[in-house]
Amino acid sequence: MTQAWQLLRRKRFTAFRVSRGAWAFLVATACSSGARTTPLPAPVSPTSVAAGARPRPYPVTESAAFRRAVERGTRTRTGAPGPRNWTQFARYALRAELDPATKRLTGDGRIRYQNPSPDTLRFIAVHLHQNLFAPGAARNEIVPETNGMELSRVVAQGRTLPQMHDVESSVQPGYEIEGTVAWIRLPTPLAPGSAAELELSWSFTVPVDGAPRSGTDGEVFMIAYWYPQVAVYDDVNGWQTDWYMGNAEFYMGWADYDVALTVPAGWLVGATGELRNALDVLTPRTRERLAEARRSSSVVHVVTEAERGAGQSTTAGAGGKVTWLFEARNVRDFAWGTSDQYLWDATHAVVGDVGCLPQLTASRESAPAAPGCDQRTDTATIHAFYRPSRIPWAWDQSARYGRHSIEFLSALLWPYPYSQMTALDGVVSCSGMEYPMITCIGGERDTLSLYSVTVHEFAHMWFPMQVGSDEKRRAWQDEGITRFNQAQAMRSFFDGYDLERIVRDAYLGFARAGGEVELMRHGDLYPVGSQAYAMASYQKMATNLVALRALLGPETFMRAYREYGRRWIHRHPTEHDFFNTFSDVSGRDLSWFWRTWFYETWTLDQAIAGVQATGDSTTITVDDRGLAPMPVRLAITRQGANRVDRVEIPVDVWLRGERRATIRVASSPRITRVEIDPESAFPDIDRTNNRWGR
Ligand SMILES: [Zn+2]
Repeated sequence: MTQAWQLLRRKRFTAFRVSRGAWAFLVATACSSGARTTPLPAPVSPTSVAAGARPRPYPVTESAAFRRAVERGTRTRTGAPGPRNWTQFARYALRAELDPATKRLTGDGRIRYQNPSPDTLRFIAVHLHQNLFAPGAARNEIVPETNGMELSRVVAQGRTLPQMHDVESSVQPGYEIEGTVAWIRLPTPLAPGSAAELELSWSFTVPVDGAPRSGTDGEVFMIAYWYPQVAVYDDVNGWQTDWYMGNAEFYMGWADYDVALTVPAGWLVGATGELRNALDVLTPRTRERLAEARRSSSVVHVVTEAERGAGQSTTAGAGGKVTWLFEARNVRDFAWGTSDQYLWDATHAVVGDVGCLPQLTASRESAPAAPGCDQRTDTATIHAFYRPSRIPWAWDQSARYGRHSIEFLSALLWPYPYSQMTALDGVVSCSGMEYPMITCIGGERDTLSLYSVTVHEFAHMWFPMQVGSDEKRRAWQDEGITRFNQAQAMRSFFDGYDLERIVRDAYLGFARAGGEVELMRHGDLYPVGSQAYAMASYQKMATNLVALRALLGPETFMRAYREYGRRWIHRHPTEHDFFNTFSDVSGRDLSWFWRTWFYETWTLDQAIAGVQATGDSTTITVDDRGLAPMPVRLAITRQGANRVDRVEIPVDVWLRGERRATIRVASSPRITRVEIDPESAFPDIDRTNNRWGR
């Protein structure tokens, strides 16, 4: 999702400013003799300054649950999945009909739930996300109310189940609804390696605009979290059934979907997956335009303003209705949107060789061996659905923006594995929200903001759509990574646009104002109404990745970053898998970095305390005035010769508990300037004390 956030007005942080008078004196005494030398080793002063003792980051400790997973062989300490790693899998066959006049959605479905885990399951937990909108629901944001999801039929293993109040202690099969979760006690416990079939019927009123991530404004219906979805049962924590309370997002399992959506004729549908019955749904002209979009490198207007409506863009259907059939394989959700107002643009993106990707192309039930590279360049169709009123908001550029996003990210990460990607002009309260192969984007935009939100949501097709982390408990694992990827794409698209700097300044401003909360926290446990969630999960995490890239070097960083993704495609990585992969690939113990930047709100403030020439050598004194330890990267500029020496004080100095370090360098050629981290790779909260000299 895209979080709206404001840049806080920058406040000068003056508590530790160093006197400039002292520096002037040091410049005057710098001597100018001696040959060019490499810097001497950095002796460390044991003196502590008045700022006092510092925290020394202790290592990241595994949770007991993670340790058990390692012992059972489903996880490892290298960050790779264990040889016995498993994920649950489901097959959904869903039908739904939307009546735009009453805003009612009526659905029924069959779910075949497979249990590859070694555990026998007496219950299956199912999310009923629409209950967020039920009167009296527990939630952490204000939402429009409906009656929530009304379940009219629950069948498990062929037996119709009654609703109960205490299904946990019941000996009979049945189901109980707690908030946004239904617990189903199965007639027969589900043995390891077997499958259970559920059948459910339901209906609900689509909430009006103002609902998070879905809803209707009367013209457009964004239908998300609309069917009973089996919760994740994973190898580390078992069932994860935290309620949907509004702020925190989702944790979803892998599944195949066959979905039949009935809407009035003339309403266009954008959805997860591939349209399977174009002949029944689309007129010959619409189908021909779509085929052209798959061939042509330009954007094709598939449906123009004059071509909307039944018999024009879609077939006339039966009884004024058309049923669209979609199929999606190995995805974590299914969402869709529809309107009779939509224009439709399409083009295609060149993504590289999808055949090289492990286990992406087939559902697990058919499960052929992962195909090798087929030496073919694959493409993905890009769709944009928008109202004519959105053209001033740059929506006529949406397909082009989508194409750049998918092509750039395919090159940065790995080839986009799905056949299509859709951007949909939706309700304002969507802001920007990702679902597999589709995004809902709402609100007034310009070219910068529409590209920005498009590439952000499209980047989510990698994290968490392929790399299926728990967004509720570890929002940084998809949002911060996505913010970082978005920044790389924006630098390319807008020729140097520096989103990395913007998000770093936002995080630092928020930290200065005292609002920061650590990022290793459940998404529903941030202060309501504060930007703390967005700052931690998005801005700080993206900033952490920038710092990590500087620490490891871009090449090693990208190797570890991609490796983490590839290892966990179609699986459920925890924070330990992320940390361990980076340590494994880089060959470095980074536990101090994880502890500092992921578990604490310590900030970084390195300062030049003095530059003192004594004969042939000059002593540079650096104080560490913050709480976050980082290496000190010094740039020493000398008079004439355009010479800049780069010297690094290793982080180990601070990890030993020091507050001050000194380094000796040659005095001549005369030093004109000393600066800590001139590239701003590390998020120093007070840059006014980072420089000595001109
Ligand atoms: Zn996002």
